[in-house]
Amino acid sequence: MAPGAPPDSRPLLALSSTLLVPGQTLAVQMGAARNVALARALEVPGAEVIVAVARPVAESDPPVAREKGEASLAHLTGRVGVLCRAIERIEPAPETAQLTLHALRRVRIGAIDEQHAFPTAAMSAADETDGEDFVARELAARVLAGVDELAEAGVTLDAAVVPVLRAASDAPARLADLAAAYLGFRVEDRDEVIQRLSVVERLRFVTSRVEKEVARAQVAADVARNARTRVERHQREFFLRQQLRAIQSELGEGDPAERDADELAQRISDAQLPELVLREAKREAERLRALSAASTEHQMLRTYLDWVLAMPWTRTSGASHIELPHVESSLDERHWGLREAKERILEHLAVCELRGGEPSGPILCFVGPPGTGKTSLGEVIAQAMGRPFERFSVGGMRDEAEIRGHRRTYVGAMPGRIAQSLKRAGVRDPVLMVDEIDKMSTGLSPTGDPTAAMLEVLDPAHNHTFADHYLNLPLDLSGVLFLCTANNLFDIPGPLRDRLEVIRIAGYTAEEKVEIAWRYSLPKLFQQHGITDHDLQFTDEVLALLGSRYAREAGLRNFERHLASLMRKRARRKAAGELGAWVMDTARLEELLGPPPHAAPDADIDPAIGTVTGLAWTSEGGELMTIEALLIPGRGQLMVTGQLGDVMRESVDAALSYVRSRARDIGIADSEFVQSDLHVHFPAGAVPKDGPSAGVAVTLAIASAFSRRPVRRDIAVTGEVTLRGRILQVGGAKEKVLAAYRGGLREVLLPSLNATQDLRDLPAEVLRRVVFRGVGTMDEVLARALLPSADEHAVVVDDDASIVREGLGVLERD
Ligand code: ADP
Repeated sequence: MAPGAPPDSRPLLALSSTLLVPGQTLAVQMGAARNVALARALEVPGAEVIVAVARPVAESDPPVAREKGEASLAHLTGRVGVLCRAIERIEPAPETAQLTLHALRRVRIGAIDEQHAFPTAAMSAADETDGEDFVARELAARVLAGVDELAEAGVTLDAAVVPVLRAASDAPARLADLAAAYLGFRVEDRDEVIQRLSVVERLRFVTSRVEKEVARAQVAADVARNARTRVERHQREFFLRQQLRAIQSELGEGDPAERDADELAQRISDAQLPELVLREAKREAERLRALSAASTEHQMLRTYLDWVLAMPWTRTSGASHIELPHVESSLDERHWGLREAKERILEHLAVCELRGGEPSGPILCFVGPPGTGKTSLGEVIAQAMGRPFERFSVGGMRDEAEIRGHRRTYVGAMPGRIAQSLKRAGVRDPVLMVDEIDKMSTGLSPTGDPTAAMLEVLDPAHNHTFADHYLNLPLDLSGVLFLCTANNLFDIPGPLRDRLEVIRIAGYTAEEKVEIAWRYSLPKLFQQHGITDHDLQFTDEVLALLGSRYAREAGLRNFERHLASLMRKRARRKAAGELGAWVMDTARLEELLGPPPHAAPDADIDPAIGTVTGLAWTSEGGELMTIEALLIPGRGQLMVTGQLGDVMRESVDAALSYVRSRARDIGIADSEFVQSDLHVHFPAGAVPKDGPSAGVAVTLAIASAFSRRPVRRDIAVTGEVTLRGRILQVGGAKEKVLAAYRGGLREVLLPSLNATQDLRDLPAEVLRRVVFRGVGTMDEVLARALLPSADEHAVVVDDDASIVREGLGVLERD
């Protein structure tokens, strides 16, 4: 000890390449002059020294010190050193010394005296702070696990090290020190360990170093083993997560991810999944456990499993028995008329029932204009059968994935509509209505043909293992009762149409609308609006007006909308306190709803030259369509205009040729064809889809224009014409007839085949009031509809039609 040093001061041994930790015994060799001097001055064994790490020589050190390679020690003041006891001293060579030191404890270094041969420093106690015991223990466990991993990764450790560290596992402070001493920490890191008086901090530092070391060793090992980095990363994550869990359980928190995973596993085993699904779900749930909850993959997998669990794999509605009488009465309760549709539904369900509830054979498809009750038929069927009802539209669908779902690898992938509907229904045997099957886009799109997927869905031979791309598990659709709806039969893709049993619903006449209003719509709407027939009163006349001039279309939507609008107006006043009944009459109706948008049915039926009332068919039902032909002085040119100009062009060409070929019979001078230009116009309005069926109307208009003979406008015509004047059958005859009736026309000329086939199911009212004439040739049409030219107008066309109106209303040609 330096002379005159205070009693709590000790020689200060500043080392540069090693450091002892408390408890360690180490032989330290030294060559620096001040250290050799110190070693020699010590009383061995027994004397105490403070050992600390000196920083390397720097520019700022005094020149003498620099020369000797000894840095100033002033910076050590305030730092922590290790108090050691000297055990042995030897001098292996001149100017060197070796001290065997046993480290006792940490001390805080105070003032340093460097004036003598060797430095001395004052010291004071350096007290450790313990921190939370369990944290320390957790960290200690991590250090030990790291040691194991180091060994596993092939880092060679002294055989004695592992047992020594293990023995210290209950004394985390000591473990940290020993780890710093034995795990090959660099001297700077050992110093860091010595400096940390908080045990937890110290352990944290040691843990981070050890784990860094583990990672480094693992990478090295991976490189050696041809890089299995990914697996290692998972292992590492797994290991860390285990630590985390241990900490959380210590904190009494429990790992939410773990709880979640357990809960999921429970749900999977409770869900009564079919064998295959169960296996897949379990496998994916296990995979989920190994993923970090924050990763996208985890979320995707989780969503997937939620979907799998939400699907009704085995759950049924429990309604295996179909009560046909109940279905029948339910259908009648909710729908007026629709006799044929109801019959066919019952037949279909009867077959279903006989097969033990499994639907089979063709799929029922309701075809008709909007608002004719297709959806509500479906709803009633489902209700009466005791099964949930779901619907989805395939209108405008271009992508197979909308039906089958996207593969799970897509970002934002979802199951297809079928699976979605089943999930909503919650049972495996719901009634599923596929809407707008005629509006599905066909043809090979690059993303797959939705029609093909739909075919598979609707095919009883294949749909028990329907493959949804997202779920990637076979879905059994054999229990589902599929129903389809369409507006236009002819737009349904061919192969699909073959699978369907088509039930056509043509639309309603104004009289039927009145009837439906009394029985169904009004009671329903009154209830919905919180008023009664004491507040608002209708008459047949007003309802008929509403049905014919406000809502003329085939369906009931507009009609019901108008009724609802009236009710809202009444309800508002009632809420404001107005009592008494509103009795609806024509004037009141006009006052509340504005003037009627449609002309009175019997307007505009005076015979006219070149103007013909044709019948068009649109997806909204039938429509009246006026066709005009006009002669103007010219050179035999033809002009076709109007919305359908191009589509109709060929029809017009054919019609013109026919008229020219029959010019003499009709009363047209040959010269007319070269002296005049012909202009045929199709005014806008409804856009019919089937161009050719205007053939009869066009021919008639042209014949009338050239012959200057007026056409009867109380007759509506439809039919396709061949060049030689034969009339061919057309589509949508029933809808067209209803349109003629709604438009106030009382005579319809239509192709004979249509007359024998399509009129079966028309309302009695229509059969009674409209005269139908089946026509086979254009000559018959001309004879019937073309009046004599104005100068011979006196001669009235004979009207001795021998019309049969009995039976189903099929009418013979006269
Ligand atoms: P769609 O599915 O054919 O477009 P909806 O089924 O939605 O038509 O029917 C529209 C409205 O008309 C519904 O309120 C429905 O109850 C009513 N409706 C249609 N047809 C009838 C009918 N024959 N008898 C009673 N109400 C009907």
